[in-house]
Amino acid sequence: MSAQTRPRFDFPLRTRLFIDGCWCVPETRRRLPVVDPSTEETIVEVEVGGPADVDCAVRAASRALRAWKQTSGAQRAGFLRAIARGAEAHGERLAALQSLNNGKPIAESRIDVGDVVATFDYYADLAETLDRAEQEVAIPSSDHRAVIRREPAGVAALIVPWNFPMVTTAWKLAPALAAGCTVVLKPSEFTPLPELELAAIVERAGLPPGVFNVVTGTGTEVGAALTTHPLVSKVSFTGSTAVGEQVMKAAAQSIKGVSLELGGKSSIVVFADADLDLAVDLVTGGAFFNAGQMCSATSRVLVERPLAEALIARLADRVARTVVGDPFASGVQMGPLTNRAQYERVQRFIARGKTDGASLVVQGAAPEGAGLFVQPTMFVDLPVDSAVWREEIFGPVLCVRSFETEDEAIATANDTEFGLVATVVTRDEARGQRVAAALQAGVVWINTPQLIFPQTSWGGYKKSSIGRELGPFGLAAFQEVKQILSAARPV
Ligand code: NDP
Repeated sequence: MSAQTRPRFDFPLRTRLFIDGCWCVPETRRRLPVVDPSTEETIVEVEVGGPADVDCAVRAASRALRAWKQTSGAQRAGFLRAIARGAEAHGERLAALQSLNNGKPIAESRIDVGDVVATFDYYADLAETLDRAEQEVAIPSSDHRAVIRREPAGVAALIVPWNFPMVTTAWKLAPALAAGCTVVLKPSEFTPLPELELAAIVERAGLPPGVFNVVTGTGTEVGAALTTHPLVSKVSFTGSTAVGEQVMKAAAQSIKGVSLELGGKSSIVVFADADLDLAVDLVTGGAFFNAGQMCSATSRVLVERPLAEALIARLADRVARTVVGDPFASGVQMGPLTNRAQYERVQRFIARGKTDGASLVVQGAAPEGAGLFVQPTMFVDLPVDSAVWREEIFGPVLCVRSFETEDEAIATANDTEFGLVATVVTRDEARGQRVAAALQAGVVWINTPQLIFPQTSWGGYKKSSIGRELGPFGLAAFQEVKQILSAARPV
């Protein structure tokens, strides 16, 4: 790993919990190493909170709620814009920490920062509209007046994974604050560094103490304590389906509101009339961006038979030429996986794919020695009952199968327990819309990369999600609805 390619991290890294406006050390007095996945060396040790720290943070959030929910939408918009400007001003630092800690190429980290900024700006705009949001509803009675109000849900617990640390945080934090909720954030134990830097930006925006709190630590301690704390009203979780199930069970004990963004096993459907260059770009982007560690990875490629040979040949060439290496080096297209457990899981899937009867296996190169680098891998014609075809891998592994008819393509794409996203590539506009309508997925892209605008929506069908993030849906997830019915005339 060449040291010259790396930026200088000559500023102090945040390692403490942020509770009630203060950076503090936890009751546990424990620390966890944070690892650079490109070298597997420890970057720094971060404080590890426990249930007592969660209790302290939730109580601070609960105390702050009374005043925070009285602020106007315009006031909250001011804080959100200050966070957006802070993230913009410190964008390079955030991006560098993201690449250092998560391992994604620096260009991808810069995209993440742009997403964070856009999300805070969007929810600032939406917060302003809340001051005019009281809605009078037409009812069949002249003796009464009915009004619908939206109020903050209360203290929100935000639990996020390691693949898009700042982004999943922004998608929860911005709407929660806009709605008037106070929050306790639990970052993944693997990627606290960009999250804590973002927390410092939130701190500098001047939010009142207790409105925003961060407790670093493990899921089994900090996460579990948040999902059962009696003063938490809403849990917003992004992570694996298995842990999502545990979160839902834990929250059920005290009937908390729950939003879940979980796994995926998504398809890209390429018809024979597709622009081949575009199809190659969309397939490789959907499979290898962030080293495939995306809930939205379109890792199942369904190609219409007449185009199959040409597409597979082009993909094989791309896979073989993908540049894997140091996320800070120029020309690198794929960094390491983010943590060792994930690396080993992906290697197990690749080994299994090799014995599951593929007609072709293509692998690119990856640096050897230290670092969690994985060879980008393509399997052709794996049977549909192979675990590699059916289960979420969360790594740079692409599976290609061909199809004969549109109906077959739709049925195969929908044959999964997940339903997060899908992509359709075709020159036939009507077919694109028809297939999009038939796919069981929360987002469908037609002839376009995986762009996500904060104004739209995020989430999926079946086991991929409960609820939706982004757009007005993301705000509604942190709101209660109150109806006030009053006598129309003085009594
Ligand atoms: P995990 O489910 O392992 O962890 C997610 C978060 O939950 C982490 O902060 C983790 O803490 C915490 N956690 C772990 N156990 C518990 C528990 N018992 N109670 C409460 N919180 C807990 O997921 P990963 O971090 O491995 O992320 C990968 C998964 O996330 C993939 O399945 C992916 O599909 C999904 N994902 C979904 C997205 C979507 O929008 N649908 C977007 C991004 C990812 P810690 O790590 O500190 O132990």
